[in-house]
Amino acid sequence: MKNNSASHPSCDPASWHDETCVLHGDAGLSTDSALVAPIHYSATFKADDPQAFAEMANVPRHPGFYTRYGNPTHEHVAAILAKLEGTETALLTGSGMAAISTTVLALVSAGDHVIAQSRHYMSTTKLFEEVLVRFGVQVSIVEQTDLAAIEAAIRPNTRLIMLESPVNPTLVLTDLAAVAALARPRGILTVADNTFASPLNQQPHALGIDIVLHSATKYLGGHHDLTAGAVCCSALHAEKIWRMHTTLGAVLSPMDAWLLLRGLRTLPLRVQRINANALALAQWLEAQPQVEQVFYPGLESHPQHALAQRQMTGYGAVIAFAVRGNFEATSRFVASLELATHAVSLGGVDSLIVHTAAMWAGTMNEAQMQAADIAPNFVRMSVGVEHIDDLKADMARALQKL
Ligand SMILES: *Cc1c(COP(=O)(O)O)cnc(C)c1O
Repeated sequence: MKNNSASHPSCDPASWHDETCVLHGDAGLSTDSALVAPIHYSATFKADDPQAFAEMANVPRHPGFYTRYGNPTHEHVAAILAKLEGTETALLTGSGMAAISTTVLALVSAGDHVIAQSRHYMSTTKLFEEVLVRFGVQVSIVEQTDLAAIEAAIRPNTRLIMLESPVNPTLVLTDLAAVAALARPRGILTVADNTFASPLNQQPHALGIDIVLHSATKYLGGHHDLTAGAVCCSALHAEKIWRMHTTLGAVLSPMDAWLLLRGLRTLPLRVQRINANALALAQWLEAQPQVEQVFYPGLESHPQHALAQRQMTGYGAVIAFAVRGNFEATSRFVASLELATHAVSLGGVDSLIVHTAAMWAGTMNEAQMQAADIAPNFVRMSVGVEHIDDLKADMARALQKL
């Protein structure tokens, strides 16, 4: 057996690095001899006797009772994610938005007050500004870089502060440790969407954040082939969120959980390469005459670079930049790239690029776009694991089309 931690102190799982965690963090969960964890493609699980059935039905988060309640394949993924985020446990959901909405709905009630950032993933903003207010929750929207404003927004009935860092589209950061320090002594829960960083580059729990959320659709899956979400937190919070999860029912399919498990095995390798590629491309873009401005937390020109260095160990896949040209020229530039595919999402093995203004043209007017920092010449790229020289060459060729 591979887990001999009791007899060999250097094999203590608590001291494992991420590269080891993703391969061995779920050791011991499978009882058969297959090297690769099986897909438990079963909606329900049999009990050997009435006593076992009673236990399966009543133990919270039982992994083998009914798949909406839990599934053994989910367990493998959760064990690894909890280790990567440094939390007691993790819970999987059918999408990142399921992780976010289930968590928030599990923790707040009518009459509670919550604080959220003025910039969030679009559907998170909708949850706070449109959904929660319909159920009698008071919502304050605050500028994420203004700690004094966050503190001033706190009320006696503030229950939760929702955070996200870095955030779309200009990679603005939130000082996670500073907000946690405001919230903890007052008994306010902090929730951080860590999707844009990945657990390799940022561990919010170590900075004092209570609950860490992911769209596992992004880096964790890493291949743009599945939709999944994760909640990393204490067992106490997880049980509460799990109860809401069994009610809302946004369950991850066992097949997608297995694909996610397969993706996780190479997460550190992928993120190391992505970090290196994105930083190199961001630095190169900054030196190009056709590029007006580059936004990337790893660049010294990023207004919060010092904070990035403090709370992140790598800066992730997403770089945003403004090219010298109007909407049409930007559109031509994006279309003429051959390696970066014109598609949303991020954190996967292949590079993707989005002409942000074109994406929102149907849902936002010009004033709204301006308020959301979306200029017509602005693009967002998720850098993949291609060879950096090829990415630069493709970019150089496309920039000539401006
Ligand atoms: C993609 C994303 C989500 C939503 O995740 P889905 O898996 O698409 O539901 C939430 N937050 C951030 C920051 C994201 O990038």
